[in-house]
Amino acid sequence: MSKKIKKSTTTVKRSSAKFIFVVGGVMSGIGKGITSSSIAHVLQARGNKVTAIKIDPYINVDAGTMNPTEHGEVFVLRDGLETDQDMGNYERFLGEDLPSINYMTTGSVYQSVIEKERNLGYEGRNVQVVPDIPEEVISRIKSAAKTAKADVTLIEVGGTVGEYENLLFIEAIRMMRSEMPEDVAVVMVSYLPVPGSIGEMKTKPTQHAVRVLGSNGVTPDVIIARSPEPVDDKRKEKIARFCNVKVENVISAPDLESIYDIPLNFEESNLSQILCKRLNLSPRKKADLSAWKRFVRSSKAGTDTVKIAVVGKYFTSGDFVLSDVYISVLEAIKFSAYKLKLIPEITYLSSQDFTDKKNLKQLKKFDGVLVPGGFGTTGIEGKLNVIEYVRKQGIPYFGICYGMQLAVLEFAKNVAKIKGASTEEINPDAEHLVIGVMDEQREKIANHDMGGTMRLGAYPAVLKAGTTAMKAYRTKEISERHRHRYEVNPEFIEKLESKGLVFSGTSPDGKLMEIAELPVTDHPFFVGVQFHPELQARPLDPHPLFTAFVKASYETD
Ligand code: GLN
Repeated sequence: MSKKIKKSTTTVKRSSAKFIFVVGGVMSGIGKGITSSSIAHVLQARGNKVTAIKIDPYINVDAGTMNPTEHGEVFVLRDGLETDQDMGNYERFLGEDLPSINYMTTGSVYQSVIEKERNLGYEGRNVQVVPDIPEEVISRIKSAAKTAKADVTLIEVGGTVGEYENLLFIEAIRMMRSEMPEDVAVVMVSYLPVPGSIGEMKTKPTQHAVRVLGSNGVTPDVIIARSPEPVDDKRKEKIARFCNVKVENVISAPDLESIYDIPLNFEESNLSQILCKRLNLSPRKKADLSAWKRFVRSSKAGTDTVKIAVVGKYFTSGDFVLSDVYISVLEAIKFSAYKLKLIPEITYLSSQDFTDKKNLKQLKKFDGVLVPGGFGTTGIEGKLNVIEYVRKQGIPYFGICYGMQLAVLEFAKNVAKIKGASTEEINPDAEHLVIGVMDEQREKIANHDMGGTMRLGAYPAVLKAGTTAMKAYRTKEISERHRHRYEVNPEFIEKLESKGLVFSGTSPDGKLMEIAELPVTDHPFFVGVQFHPELQARPLDPHPLFTAFVKASYETD
């Protein structure tokens, strides 16, 4: 018997999508990305579906062609777009993968507008910088919100107000806000210096920044006041009075012990409530930060130290040491160490320093050594020396991408004794190219078609039973993100395997070598991966291979 279903007459009214723009005031480098990620996290903790977008104001179409020492890490999304490291921060703080619609640069926006114009998409009218560029920006923001089915979309505008570069994005904010004033909020992340000569916290640069933003037709609803110290009431009142914001909307954001403390600090200042109120968002529940708090607690609970050396070539810039280039790798090590209740002590070493084998001895004091991804010829000799040393000394080794290719090459040279072995990236004329260019890449390199053309994004791999990789993942099929042009040359697989190297992970068709390792009977932990596992390591979900590496490092004498 068919039952008649009575149609409900009351429909639950879902509030419209909300948008929060984050802009920078005063200067760059004050943690706008982490601030945005933390805002995203506290809003998510209130039960909202949150997504985050990064706008980079440069002309490069994506971040893939930029020098890492200038721009930091290139973060590859699951669908393959090469983006800014802030996308990695959002993914880590939200615990979610983000799609490529969530990232844009001035170059990519202009590219779309020009393509549309060439295809008569503007039906013959005059295409103009304003409004057509901001309109393209707005349409991307709305489509990202729709794709994510987001209640709240957070949009971080790169750069600092007052720069030519981000003016068109600020115009997009103005246009969106006048179209839907109730649904768009603006947060300015500003900086309050404490000049050593006076020892007093100064608000004037923030006042100027707000005035500049105002001259572009945008006023902030919230000011996040970054400073070395907490902002006192007197300064909060001053900022409120001169910048037209409520005093409770001036949020003190002092330097904290760890970036992971920031969401907790924001919650203490009621930031999520302030933003929800401003946007008429009725949160389904109070902010639940319990999982995050547990993670933060565990990050401070360690008693024993694990010493990991990361040997890379992009650490030094002039007199300064940069660690941003490998930020996801460093965070991934930390998450796994915290999970194991260990204190990670990470040391950055320059691969060039190991060209001289005399320096290798210093590696003895580390529990584990990691060689991350890289490109080109600089520092390669040093990396090969490091790998040979840790292989022979039984020091746990984790090689990522180039770090895997070089581990295979070192094995080919020194164990399999393949004469004249090299990688095509270093010496295309070598006698035996143990690492060769991937077939589909050859033409691209010849045509200098280098932007966004590597093997990029997530691909599946299958693991071999009984191996270190399989024991770590505890599953047969995995999916990891890639970014490379070269691969293990299939011609040498048999020879390498006959000498004891195990290819424990391959593409499902068996053609591409995705993981190489030494059996535990030969070495406590020696694993190289062609992909970038660090891109999927999350604070609340550490990566199993990093955890296996950190554990082996700690346990090996
Ligand atoms: N340069 C190597 C390649 O292109 C490795 C790339 C990387 O480490 N991300 O294959």
